[in-house]
Amino acid sequence: MFSKILIANRGEIALRILRACKEMGIQTVAVHSTADADAMHVKLADESVCIGPNSATDSYLNIPSILAACEITGADAVHPGYGFLSENSRFAQILEEHKITFIGPSSAHIEIMGDKIAAKKTAIKLGIPCVPGSKGEITSAKDAKAIGKEFGYPVIVKAASGGGGRGMKVANSDAEMEIAYSTARSEAKAAFGDDTIYIEKYLGKPRHIEVQVIGDGKGNGVHLGTRDCSLQRRHQKVWEEALAPSLSLKANEKIGEICASAVRDLKYSGAGTFEFLYEDGEFYFIEMNTRLQVEHPVTERITNFDIVYEQLRVASGETLSITQDEVSYWGHAIEVRINAEDPLTFAPSPGTITRYHPAGGVGVRVDSAIYQGYKIPPYYDSLIGKLIVHGRNRDECLQRLRRSLNEFVIDGVKTTLPLFQRLIEEPDVLSGNYDIHWLENYLKNIND
Ligand code: ADP
Repeated sequence: MFSKILIANRGEIALRILRACKEMGIQTVAVHSTADADAMHVKLADESVCIGPNSATDSYLNIPSILAACEITGADAVHPGYGFLSENSRFAQILEEHKITFIGPSSAHIEIMGDKIAAKKTAIKLGIPCVPGSKGEITSAKDAKAIGKEFGYPVIVKAASGGGGRGMKVANSDAEMEIAYSTARSEAKAAFGDDTIYIEKYLGKPRHIEVQVIGDGKGNGVHLGTRDCSLQRRHQKVWEEALAPSLSLKANEKIGEICASAVRDLKYSGAGTFEFLYEDGEFYFIEMNTRLQVEHPVTERITNFDIVYEQLRVASGETLSITQDEVSYWGHAIEVRINAEDPLTFAPSPGTITRYHPAGGVGVRVDSAIYQGYKIPPYYDSLIGKLIVHGRNRDECLQRLRRSLNEFVIDGVKTTLPLFQRLIEEPDVLSGNYDIHWLENYLKNIND
């Protein structure tokens, strides 16, 4: 096992990783920008290194600075968390070259899955069902229109290097395709430095269902069940549940086993998530995330399994600590993402937290790095906490969520808590009757 881990991240996920390290007796190094000098992950780590100024490009994305921090502190491994450098194959490769362990899959696996066209091709080879669409890259508006005709409009133009819900354009006709094709390309170029695009059939009312997997790179791999993350705004998740309530246990196990077997075939090492759209009883693979996800706690809650602990074990060369028959599910879990944003328009709301009282009690977990008096900087993602509740079944879980939301106090900045207080009273949310477009439509009706 490692003796010292550098955590190349900030906020709640840096704390989450730090906590696992502490419980395992591993020394921790926090890195931070100048804006984060007073951040909780810095206060709680054994050592800390300032890696640059406020902007993420100069600090949390600054590979030479992070490498220097490893050298100075003698860290033998780096946990990248999510976002930032977590899916940067070059970073993983540079660490490999410096004999520092990247806690995650091999750079080769990150690279394949980071290119969504290559990922889909790999998925097809592994027997994973995919969204119908172009076989590979589309390089002209004429070819784009031909795909529209072949699969039938609407279709969605997507960036091969895409992420965070950006660079996607829906086209309903040849005329719309002209615009969608060129705007998707230029947005992809601006956001990801790569204008490679591909096209998929646009699904009208799917749910977003994903499968958590973990492998040890030696051919062992398990799945930890499904999550439903259909409640999204701007293609970003805000509310996640495990297991996916719309699936029978049999269907959960069937798609789970397809993914676990892919992990074994690939000799994949570390945690990962296969993301699918699910419509009319069919699954369609959209992408694989080769890292820890924001929503991993709902899976931890129902499986009693510590995903970060297992990430550290397999990264240090140990075999997976469990087999598939040892995975079982306990009740239901829901996570809501607390962002420092206007609850209806999602405009960021940085500032100082004047009062903080998190919810607690039976079945409640709060993952957050904020505290009373903490100043939320304007430079980074606005996620400031996650409220995760667990119950024996979905109804109990919803009751607990309602109770916890009413207890939770964050003053001084706007947060998304009031949105969840509204959602928990919505009949469609209570009955689980929603697809990936439900929340956008709901917000549109309120904001109009
Ligand atoms: P990103 O990597 O940017 O998150 P994804 O491919 O995972 O992109 O897609 C993000 C979200 O965009 C999905 O959860 C879904 O809401 C929507 N989406 C993606 N592909 C399709 C599709 N073929 N049809 C309908 N919606 C889609």
